[in-house]
Amino acid sequence: MKKIVILGSTGSIGRMALDVISRSRDRFSVIGLVAGKNIDLLESQVKTFQPKIVAVAGEGDAQKLRKRLGPRPEVLAGGEGINAVAAYGGADFVLSAMVGFSGLMPTLHAIRAGKAIGLANKETLVIAGTIVMEEAKGHGVVILPVDSEHSAIFQCIEGHDRRYVKRVILTASGGPFMGKTIEELKVVTPEDALKHPKWNMGKKVTIDSATLMNKGLEVIEASHLFGLEADRIDVLVHPQSIVHSMVEFSDGGLLAQISMPDMRGPIAYALSYPQRLENTVPPLELDTIGKLTFYRPDSESFPCLGFAYDALREGGTMPAVLNAANEVMVNAFLKGRISFTQIPVIIKKTMHSHKTQKAAELDAVIEADRWAREKAEEYIKKRNP
Ligand code: MG
Repeated sequence: MKKIVILGSTGSIGRMALDVISRSRDRFSVIGLVAGKNIDLLESQVKTFQPKIVAVAGEGDAQKLRKRLGPRPEVLAGGEGINAVAAYGGADFVLSAMVGFSGLMPTLHAIRAGKAIGLANKETLVIAGTIVMEEAKGHGVVILPVDSEHSAIFQCIEGHDRRYVKRVILTASGGPFMGKTIEELKVVTPEDALKHPKWNMGKKVTIDSATLMNKGLEVIEASHLFGLEADRIDVLVHPQSIVHSMVEFSDGGLLAQISMPDMRGPIAYALSYPQRLENTVPPLELDTIGKLTFYRPDSESFPCLGFAYDALREGGTMPAVLNAANEVMVNAFLKGRISFTQIPVIIKKTMHSHKTQKAAELDAVIEADRWAREKAEEYIKKRNP
């Protein structure tokens, strides 16, 4: 029986993970859950899965939960409470599925406690990839990617000598705005951006998909997970989202992992690795799909992908700045404070005004994150007095 902790259990990935687990209760037991503010859903998850320990963001919400649930499970609150659940003694496997920067410290705590990690929070590797991978190595911890592209690459690379890996090709659905010009993008609304054609995901990653920043963050994530420099990571737009990513080997051969687009696939793979579960995604009928197409990304309408390559090449604190500025911009766009096309403009300005600290320690990365949030906010205010 694998004992599982889920960080971000009320989010899109967390809910799907619990769905996968509910169909394999003989293999998995949920012993810890972490949520932000959605305590009603957390309460019902606790009643179904009976974890031993849970944590929420706010102390007020923790008190409400204690009243509703009684003495069991133990309910903790705040950053320290969340880190404690991440490192909880009884767990074997921690699914890191919180959103954005908030996922970094809990994931590090889980690694330091020697847990196997299922990583859905790509920002953890974007912000502090070198540090996180070194800590994982030092603690003998396996990081299993839950991002569909990285799960695909992991599955294609498994059992192959890394020396023969020439490059990886990440696929991108292209998001809801593929084919639009910058002029057309100026007037798109958050509602338009949240209508993703292929994947059903949380708000942050859906907006990131619309700007192609999601793919940019994934390029940085892939670089750390698989030890590849920027030139060996390529991106192709593939609107059908059937090919989840590819690995090209030195002899010119490519391996691709293909399936119906359903996050339960990579979630189940990480949870059950090295085994596989039965029927986690609907079967793929290629004859009904008929055609798979691939295009170069449009770097003019969607410059965020290029910014991520720039940040990866620059290294040090720059990827943390890219990520922080992006988180601020996504929130501002969702609240209607800025237009869609202002997102890349302000991210670029924030990156340009940052003095990169190379070979950065964790403190420097956290400070760069704080600095970039302030700077990006300042630029938003200058545009919207
Ligand atoms: Mg992905």
